[in-house]
Amino acid sequence: MRILIAEDDPSFRRLLAETLAIWGYDVVVADNGYSALQILQSEDPPRLAMLDWMMPGMEGVEVCRKVRQKMVEPYTYMVLLTSQQRDEDLVIGMEAGADDYITKPFKHNELRLRLRAGRRIIELQNELIEARDTFRTKASHDSLTGLWNHEEILRILAQELSRAEREEKSAGVIMADIDFFKKINDTYGHLAGDVVLRSAAGKMRSLMRTYDCIGRYGGEEFLVVLPECNLECAAAFAERLRLCVSSDSIDTPEGMIPVTISLGVAASSKDKKKDVNSLIKTADEALYRAKESGRNRVAVALAS
Ligand code: GH3
Ligand code: MG
Ligand code: MG
Ligand code: MG
Repeated sequence: MRILIAEDDPSFRRLLAETLAIWGYDVVVADNGYSALQILQSEDPPRLAMLDWMMPGMEGVEVCRKVRQKMVEPYTYMVLLTSQQRDEDLVIGMEAGADDYITKPFKHNELRLRLRAGRRIIELQNELIEARDTFRTKASHDSLTGLWNHEEILRILAQELSRAEREEKSAGVIMADIDFFKKINDTYGHLAGDVVLRSAAGKMRSLMRTYDCIGRYGGEEFLVVLPECNLECAAAFAERLRLCVSSDSIDTPEGMIPVTISLGVAASSKDKKKDVNSLIKTADEALYRAKESGRNRVAVALAS
């Protein structure tokens, strides 16, 4: 594990660095508070830091304060090195955000144990962050396709519509539905149907620009949200989605399965504002017309 040692006394710094290296730490050194702060606020900072209290320029306690002000995650475990034993100073240090302190000259064994405690805190936080992120991903994604799930894509759409309204811009939506999907299931089985769903979703996702979003709205229905896109631009994008899905058959364990989709397009604009429900309803109506008029096609919302 990487550890920062910020200490202005060169011989003490060297002694610490050598000791910690022997204990297996990957040591980064700073000889003043400013460079310590810079290192701790860099992109991938060491998660453990030993900061000398007394340093010219910026003291260790100030480094603690500034790190805590700015960064929330990932947590940096900071140990203050102090030669002062006055209780009130230590309270100031802990209030500034230090996790622990050690008085110079330190006992090797004590330092080693205290750093081990720090490491344990960091490892626990890593596990918590990982568990939380996994949970967040599960709560917002569809497990079969990896796309946003129903609730999340609606949340994204609502957010996008209020942004579009604030900035007086357009936002487009596309409702895409796999054609005769029931027949695919009936002919090739549910598992092959799942492969088709996953693959069609992947094809569509590969076309998205970074700020576009696609979610699985329902069984074999997908909702695409296109920020800053008017009806015309959304219709052109829908046509690209249609071509991309239908261009090659999908390779499944049951053989190659040809797949087409039908798409309904709607948009909200500065002059014709729509809320989430009316936008989805309009895209749904257009999708219905695409199905009615033969499938494997794009239908655009009628002027209303
Ligand atoms: P249309 O062209 O009119 O859209 O016809 P369709 O057969 O695609 O539409 P329909 O709504 O009749 O059938 C959708 C089918 O999608 C029925 C349902 O069993 C299937 N389905 C929904 N979710 C899943 C899934 O996760 N996996 C699989 N394999 N099938 C699914
Ligand atoms: Mg000093
Ligand atoms: Mg369908
Ligand atoms: Mg459907």
